[in-house]
Amino acid sequence: MTPSPHYLSPDQARRIRRWEAWNMGYFVVAFITLLTLLVFSSQLGLSDGNDWSGLGIIIALLVIPIIVLQLRLACPACGERIGWQAKMMAPDQCRHCHTFLRAR
Ligand SMILES: [Zn+2]
Repeated sequence: MTPSPHYLSPDQARRIRRWEAWNMGYFVVAFITLLTLLVFSSQLGLSDGNDWSGLGIIIALLVIPIIVLQLRLACPACGERIGWQAKMMAPDQCRHCHTFLRAR
């Protein structure tokens, strides 16, 4: 038998939506920053000849917050980390406890 579906409280759902907004917002900012850096890297002196270490560090600094954001998203119902299921948006349903990640 399948358990009856659970939903989040409106407050919990709001937290998920806020996380999505941060996640999307940050991703857009990081993407634009990265594109700008790649386009202007030679002018900025970030890719002098074969030395890409400066650009590498900046890319790492841009990527770390994405990882942190992914790790921070936990299912409000069971506490399972669901960030890695999320990618851009939170999944519809927690794979662990099958709670729908939205208000009813
Ligand atoms: Zn869950």
